[in-house]
Amino acid sequence: MNDFDLVILGAGSGGYAAALRGAQLGLSVELIEKEKVGGTCLHKGCIPTKALLHAGEIADNTKHAAEFGVKATFISMDMLAVNAYKDGVISKLHKGLQGLVKSRNINFVEGHGKLVGKNQVEVNGTVYTGKNIILATGSYPKTLPGLEIDGKQIVTSEEAMSFDYVPKSVIVLGGGVIGCEFASVWNSFGSEVTIIEGLPRLVALEDESSSKQLERAFRKRGINFEVGVKFASATKDKKGVTVTLENGAKHTADVLLVAVGRGPVSANLGYEEQGITMDRGYVMVDEKCRTNVPGIWAVGDLIPTLQLAHVGFAEGILVAEEIAGLNPRAINYDGVPRVTYSEPEVASVGLTTAVAKERGYDVVELSYDLAGNGKANILKTAGSIKLVAQKNGPVLGVHMVGSRVGELLAEGQLIYNWEADANDVASLIHAHPTLSEAMGEAHLALAGKPLHAHG
Ligand SMILES: Cc1cc2nc3c(=O)[nH]c(=O)nc-3n(C[C@H](O)[C@H](O)[C@H](O)COP(=O)(O)OP(=O)(O)OC[C@H]3O[C@@H](n4cnc5c(N)ncnc54)[C@H](O)[C@@H]3O)c2cc1C
Repeated sequence: MNDFDLVILGAGSGGYAAALRGAQLGLSVELIEKEKVGGTCLHKGCIPTKALLHAGEIADNTKHAAEFGVKATFISMDMLAVNAYKDGVISKLHKGLQGLVKSRNINFVEGHGKLVGKNQVEVNGTVYTGKNIILATGSYPKTLPGLEIDGKQIVTSEEAMSFDYVPKSVIVLGGGVIGCEFASVWNSFGSEVTIIEGLPRLVALEDESSSKQLERAFRKRGINFEVGVKFASATKDKKGVTVTLENGAKHTADVLLVAVGRGPVSANLGYEEQGITMDRGYVMVDEKCRTNVPGIWAVGDLIPTLQLAHVGFAEGILVAEEIAGLNPRAINYDGVPRVTYSEPEVASVGLTTAVAKERGYDVVELSYDLAGNGKANILKTAGSIKLVAQKNGPVLGVHMVGSRVGELLAEGQLIYNWEADANDVASLIHAHPTLSEAMGEAHLALAGKPLHAHG
């Protein structure tokens, strides 16, 4: 029996979420994966990088222990042990996920799949038929013309996360989320780091104020960066890699990390042959993730929405529920929480000031400095919570910089998605002393009644 309600190609965040939810709703599910269930996020993305960042945080804490009255000496990183810790986390989560897939009676097939009909996927010479097909083949790390990845001196995030040594120096090409996270890791591990970014600022999709604060914090940490300059060429020799920029500047380092974005995995998979509308390799979908071909859906990094694991989960769940007839609400992508897990973290939800103005809102802004927050002082972190709001209306955006602010985003997303205004949040009591208090204080100030702030 090779006929299913749902045949899913790719078992990353988007694909496996659709499988789990589909099975929960009583659909028969076939899940096809050429590598490992969990995809990029679990094996080559979110989880390994966050483990490296945590190891970096411990290194930094050790280096700065004396500031907190603790005597400790940082000797060096033991990358074999770091990788063992990181791989242990991945392995545990992978086993858990495999168990979950099995327990939901999902038919998991390992192999390279190809769409061979409007309702058919072929794997290892067997054709599986689905009343519905979900394409979830994800993304790959892009490079630039003339920049060949050798996996040793010129690498992508995939090789970078398993280095068995700490490079003395690194150039990070690309100051987006992935570039900034690796810059942060390597700085903590002891490398000399230089970021090159073509756009005018680091994490350029964030509110301008967040970029400025991250840049200030990185400068303080000794992370070098050049923004608004384009890459021209790279040459290699035994000593390292030399990058030449269009402005003529040259930088040399042991390693060049190419973090210039990720492109969709869609070539030679039969998508065009079945008449699916594509754009630059992305599969085009409507607000319910339907392609133009009836019965074929697409989710995750393969479609041109935010490339985030939790977006993949949400899209996978959306499609499974739509197929099962639950008529779920379309995703509001502005309401998706976004975090760069560098030190300090950058976290946001909703609209930036620039986008809110573009959309015609009468905007008011409020920035609450973490200097006024007890817990931030205990942690010795700097940063702020910036609110973008409609004048006499709801909060339109929450933008935060500081250690651990990603954890505050749970409240930020409720505020944005439930269209709370300043008074709604100001009336809620936040525990003292927590970083979350800064969220309350920011709204108190926005409501015109600042407590621990001048206003
Ligand atoms: C370094 C890095 C750090 C990241 N950190 C975060 C983070 O902290 N938070 C966050 O939310 N997001 C993060 N992301 C992004 C996140 O990993 C992706 O958004 C998410 O994995 C996308 O899920 P997906 O299911 O669309 O694709 P993927 O996870 O890429 O899964 C696609 C799957 O399809 C399989 N596949 C492809 N072609 C075929 C085929 N022909 N046959 C069978 N199988 C196939 C692949 O092997 C893969 O397992 C990070 C990404 C990277 C690279």
